[in-house]
Amino acid sequence: MIEHRHTLNAIKSDLLEICFNTVENLNSHSEYLMLLQNCLLKHFDINQCCFLLNEGETCKPYNIDVSLELKFSGIPCMMFEPYFYSGSIVTIPSFLAEKVEFNGLTHMLLIKVGNNTPISVVLLKATEKWTDFCQSEFFEDFLNHFTKAMNLLYKNVEIRFNENQYRKLYNMTDLFHSTMDIDVILKNVLTIIQENFPNFDVELILSNDQDRQTKVRIKPFDYLSERPSTIEAFVSGKITTEQASDLNSSLLNAPIKGRQAIYGILQVSAPISYVYSKAQKEFIEILAHSSGNALENAKLYHQSHRLISDLQLINETTSRLNMKLDINEMLLFLQKQLMKSFQPMELCFVLKEGSQCKVTNASTQLFKTEEGMLYISHVSNHFEETQDPLFIADFSRIKGPNVEYKSMMAIPMIVEQRITGFSLVLHKDSYFFSFDSFKLMQSLIHHSSLAIANSTLRNQLQEMVDHDHLTKLYARSYLDEYVESALKNDDCGMFLLLDIDNFKRVNDTYGHQVGDEILVQIADQLRVLVGTRGICARWGGEEMAVYVPKISPEEAIILSNRIVEVIPEVTNPRVTISAGLVTGDEYQKQEFQTIFLEADTALYYAKKNGKNQVCIFNEAMLLHS
Ligand code: GH3
Ligand code: MG
Ligand code: MG
Repeated sequence: MIEHRHTLNAIKSDLLEICFNTVENLNSHSEYLMLLQNCLLKHFDINQCCFLLNEGETCKPYNIDVSLELKFSGIPCMMFEPYFYSGSIVTIPSFLAEKVEFNGLTHMLLIKVGNNTPISVVLLKATEKWTDFCQSEFFEDFLNHFTKAMNLLYKNVEIRFNENQYRKLYNMTDLFHSTMDIDVILKNVLTIIQENFPNFDVELILSNDQDRQTKVRIKPFDYLSERPSTIEAFVSGKITTEQASDLNSSLLNAPIKGRQAIYGILQVSAPISYVYSKAQKEFIEILAHSSGNALENAKLYHQSHRLISDLQLINETTSRLNMKLDINEMLLFLQKQLMKSFQPMELCFVLKEGSQCKVTNASTQLFKTEEGMLYISHVSNHFEETQDPLFIADFSRIKGPNVEYKSMMAIPMIVEQRITGFSLVLHKDSYFFSFDSFKLMQSLIHHSSLAIANSTLRNQLQEMVDHDHLTKLYARSYLDEYVESALKNDDCGMFLLLDIDNFKRVNDTYGHQVGDEILVQIADQLRVLVGTRGICARWGGEEMAVYVPKISPEEAIILSNRIVEVIPEVTNPRVTISAGLVTGDEYQKQEFQTIFLEADTALYYAKKNGKNQVCIFNEAMLLHS
């Protein structure tokens, strides 16, 4: 009796000693469990014992060598509960006794405070001293003190551990608040997990609308191939765990969650059978959550910057386009903008002309080849069906594995609900263009369509104004302007005015329509003879004019004679022409009106002197007229 009282007091004093003197230096559960184990050895000669600590759903063994499986997975807490209705100490149940690790242990002691879940289960090999003591009236008291001490030590280690972890978390969130650099955030998440769980693997699985330029090792989230537990965490926003026997690991998926969305999954993988404790889950959850918030902030920050620069780009583009009148310059400018913004490998603008598609000059080399037509025809077929823009991440899925350019964006130019053309960009890599790029390109093309259509229309209108409808020669007004400005730079050249001989008779004999055909035949021949050296115009009625800059008087005379000579050969019914030529000294430094008048005078001379000839203007003609 007295002996037991002594034992109790001695134990109490030991426990007190442990609690007061060592508590400050305790860093892990193993450390104080060792002290408690020594206490049991000292007072009860117990040399074989094992502490199982409650870690949420499982009790995990300490201070004993156990198999990895037992070490990681522990023993579910609920397995113990039925045994403790009868008392705090029972003989070791068979499910434990069967395990080699617990071979020889005889009893099991439940350590719990009040009605709370047990904090620990102690397995031990009973000794005579122990059995004796258990039956004494001091056992309750012992258990009480032992429990209190253990609870204190347990809590202390937990608090210190948590404090440490939360300090790290705090430092990390502090950093997160101070950075908008997505790389820094992601890198830190990986580092902190690796530091806290050095034996586990970590992976960041991020949904693919993330910034793809990140240098941190991430895995893109793929709905089609992700594990159900990962998808569940992503969809539900809650932590999930899975014993993945195919990977031989125990997975934990923590959603990287911001206020607006879930951006991915932080996946931790431990060896198979490992059971994550509540504290570990909480820690990873907080980490994933704060990184989600930080990521979201950074994303919003970058997004707003991008939006501003996108708006600036659209603004700059549209105001430049509205300045430029020439369609080619306009498309070249737009080409430059698209190249800069999306870095495609190939780019083209296709304009619709009736049912035809015309590839403009502001397109890259590929589209001048047969290969380019594969893409153009796919896109134009698409736009036959719908006005929706086209965003293809992997064209080879549609056209087969031999397709060279896999990423494609095609945006229609729509004016008054009609497609007037489209722009197409390509890249060899699949998934090259981001969805943001797609939206930006839509905006750019949308804002440019009207300017492009206006410019095309303006060009067509100008074409019509500048040309004669019947002969397709330049109109008089165009010739006037052309000659006027050309005269400023030229000091030699020729102006030839020609008129069909006896045309009234031709009309009277064959009819006006045949007369018209003759006009066309003459116009065609003039174009052949003059080519690109000068321009031919319909002067009015059945009179035409030829203007050639930078031509010597000798050559001018040869060309004029040739024209007069050839016309009768190419016209049917045959007609001759008369012409008045201004060249050489008479041409130099004159007003264009004067030159026209002189040519007319020379033409008059040609008519008067028998027609079917060229007369070269000279001053004497003026005196006689
Ligand atoms: P001349 O040798 O003196 O030039 O005799 P001409 O009969 O050709 O006389 P003139 O040049 O004055 O004739 C002008 C005629 O050209 C009048 C008109 O019948 C004809 N003409 C003018 N414009 C057209 C046209 O667009 N189509 C046709 N078919 N005839 C035209
Ligand atoms: Mg005439
Ligand atoms: Mg005539």
